[in-house]
Amino acid sequence: MHAYWNPRHETMSRDDLEALQTRKLRNLLEWTTTRVPWQAERLATAGVDAADIRTLDDLRRVPFLTREQWMQSQLDDPPYGGVLAAPPEAAIRYHTTSGTTGKTPIRALDSAKDWEWIAEMWCYAFWGFGVRPSDIVFFAFSYGTFVGFWGAHYACEKLGCLVLPGGNMTTEARVHLIVDAGATVVCSTPTYALRMAQEAQKLGIDLASGPVERVVLSGEPAGSIPATKALIEQQWGAKAGDTAGMTELGTVVMFECSHQPGGMHLIEDHYIEEVIDTETDEPVGYGELGERVVTSFGRGFIPVLRYRTGDLVVRVPSTQCSCGRTFDIYDGGIRGRVDDMKVVRGTNVYPRAVEAIVREYDAVDEFQIHLFTVEGTRDEIEVLVELPVDGGKRDEVLDELARRLSEAHEGLRMPVREVPEGSLPRFELKAKRVKDEREVWGGSGERKAM
Ligand SMILES: [Zn+2]
Repeated sequence: MHAYWNPRHETMSRDDLEALQTRKLRNLLEWTTTRVPWQAERLATAGVDAADIRTLDDLRRVPFLTREQWMQSQLDDPPYGGVLAAPPEAAIRYHTTSGTTGKTPIRALDSAKDWEWIAEMWCYAFWGFGVRPSDIVFFAFSYGTFVGFWGAHYACEKLGCLVLPGGNMTTEARVHLIVDAGATVVCSTPTYALRMAQEAQKLGIDLASGPVERVVLSGEPAGSIPATKALIEQQWGAKAGDTAGMTELGTVVMFECSHQPGGMHLIEDHYIEEVIDTETDEPVGYGELGERVVTSFGRGFIPVLRYRTGDLVVRVPSTQCSCGRTFDIYDGGIRGRVDDMKVVRGTNVYPRAVEAIVREYDAVDEFQIHLFTVEGTRDEIEVLVELPVDGGKRDEVLDELARRLSEAHEGLRMPVREVPEGSLPRFELKAKRVKDEREVWGGSGERKAM
């Protein structure tokens, strides 16, 4: 059996791939201008016509679409905004972004044909990571309006796997079902994979000697943080593979193959991924950090052209992986969010960089980055940790962690403080481990929302 879901496309030469993308781009522009008046107007204003698309470089003439523009359109023309290419009644399902508290989510609709495509995209990912029809796949997922693993569920059915939908269950019940049903694949966020492992320990269940062979991660950048991933692999006795998608596209865009190159292959026959400098909007080269901008060919109901994702990535050539795919890779996965960065007394702090260090200490069960103001003016940062292990090494871990965090942040003082076990919030989805209580960002300002 092939290692690739779509052997022809996944091993295409870059020239052929670009020709395919150019052709699909022209079709997408045609579809968008004829079906979506709101988009047609934006394209006309920018002077872009489908017939003018001759090479991939012509994509750069298409205006960016930002989340703010999408949200504004949704407010102006509720409930879906101007993004739809067909009337709502032609859709078969409603979904939303996961939405942080108080923030209106983006609402999306899909047709039956879109759902076939959504599942097909996840097939690239699951097959590429080694999931086969004989697998038993457990989803630690709530099955609500958040699109999350819905498409992944259908992909596994399409592959012929036995699917265990673990919605509406306690963590304890989920762990029991995984063991009792002999699940070989578990799908969850990185945070929740660790949470289930903690629960199993409490229940006296040794997951590492159990049947789970693969953990498919999604929903948080941590799936590609080496220390977090190593911890998940050790606790589950399984291979962990990262994936990333978004509600705005309905499905997965990139996946880690079974060769585990430390990053994710882009599904380039169905998307065009660009990486740009966030200040100048100019493209950056291989190996440089930038914001990813995505164009999607598959979703008929909501065509997406040059959407600014806010995700920070570093693109490298496919040859970084030994699997033979010609699809490029985002090295280290999603490196963080453009708006995640915190500035503390002039030093940039990325939550992901903090997590990368904290997760090297498996004594730490849960943590939180806490920002606050002292004496009305001075910004301070501290890291709160739960350390439910033996007393002896506690102080050593706290001191060493604080020293390493400081060293990694230009000497910024970042004390590490122990808090009682179970006092920090636990997350099933999109962990929010930054608590910014600084007065300067006070109130309900956007900067505060993480
Ligand atoms: Zn690969």
